[in-house]
Amino acid sequence: MRHVIVIGAGQAGASCVAKLRAGGFDGSITLIGAEAVPPYQRPPLSKAYLMGEMALERLFLRPLSFYDEQGITLRLETQVTGIDPAAQSVSLGDETLYYDDLVLTTGSVPRRLPAAIGGTLEGVCVVRDLVDVDAMAPRFVKGARVLIVGGGYIGLEAASVAAKLGLKVTLVEMAERILQRVAAPQTSDYFRALHREHGVDIREGVGLERLSGEGHVHAARLSDGSELPVDFVIVGVGIAPATALAETAGLALDNGIATDSKGRTSAPHVWAAGDCASFPYRGGRIRLESVPNAIEQAEIVAENIMGAEKDYEAKPWFWSDQYDVKLQIAGLNSGYTSVVERPGIGRTASFWYYLGEELLAVDAMNDPRAYMIGKRLIEARRSPDPAMVRDPDADLKALL
Ligand code: FAD
Repeated sequence: MRHVIVIGAGQAGASCVAKLRAGGFDGSITLIGAEAVPPYQRPPLSKAYLMGEMALERLFLRPLSFYDEQGITLRLETQVTGIDPAAQSVSLGDETLYYDDLVLTTGSVPRRLPAAIGGTLEGVCVVRDLVDVDAMAPRFVKGARVLIVGGGYIGLEAASVAAKLGLKVTLVEMAERILQRVAAPQTSDYFRALHREHGVDIREGVGLERLSGEGHVHAARLSDGSELPVDFVIVGVGIAPATALAETAGLALDNGIATDSKGRTSAPHVWAAGDCASFPYRGGRIRLESVPNAIEQAEIVAENIMGAEKDYEAKPWFWSDQYDVKLQIAGLNSGYTSVVERPGIGRTASFWYYLGEELLAVDAMNDPRAYMIGKRLIEARRSPDPAMVRDPDADLKALL
């Protein structure tokens, strides 16, 4: 019987095994995960779950019984320690399992602060998995002083939850502005104003110099010379693709595990999907860190294992929730040359990114309609006249 092994029981791993069964794959399937719980959704970890508004079971992508019912062997709390592509085997410590096809959905690992600047003091937290968040959540008490390092989406979402719960929040961003790596100045301005309205002290162009404390962190020194007393620290300075296993096994890497358009890695019968994988996209190569990408790419891999020979054509989109604002992003803005604002009422707004005359991406704040229309236009590679986008009375739907 054919045996598919999937390493990494997260969003992509769960999607891959479910798709294999849904597509009629009748061989054996083993899904191996290092964490103690069945595959779950991570986005609520910095939103509703952290806020205490979502029960643990609602995080799970499928009930535990699903894996049994589908004849999927789910091995939790199990770390894969090695891959041997020539022997088509994986090692779990002393145990060896053999595969016909292997899928790597190992996700990513959060960047941490070096020990030399206090990164290993107690009370210095990251937000990647359930264990991180369960350990951090009890610190979210009214009046506690939290320092958030990094003004990307994870840091800003954590700041939003903390401010809503009445903590005293300081957020430092080393770059000139928050969201600099991912968004235009207009989007940064929008979210800076939103956070300041909620009392978050945002300091841009300011880095963390060092954390100090006796065992537990109690102070931070910033690059502008200021000192802050802190009760805990959240580090949101990005993630790196989890490529250690692939690298040791000699697989080609290129900003993650390099795959072709079908999800194949450089080793025969080895595939990759999700945060850990990079793939060809519009003449270049990208790696995406998002739920839609993890699901869609993993499903394509499942189909290709069953012989479909399908190309993965990513349609990037992403979202973030902060306070009462839902940000939805369609497309990828890399290389944009101009940004057009479509005004809205109150907090509603959208920013449209162009490369020359080509529409690349849309950031839509509390504007699902702008997001939906923008997404469909980008996917169809159609670009509206910026004058029309700018005119709040123009009906964009007509463009579809
Ligand atoms: P993961 O879901 O991380 O799963 C990888 C799994 O592999 C992990 O469980 C890991 O333990 C396991 N693993 C790794 N190595 C081994 C090994 N050697 N042996 C066994 N197991 C191993 N995306 C959005 O689109 N919108 C959002 O709003 C959003 N918010 C987010 C908020 C937070 C706090 C986080 C952390 C992420 C968020 N994301 C969001 C990103 C999204 O969750 C990820 O892109 C997605 O989970 C990637 O899925 P994956 O399967 O590739 O990796």
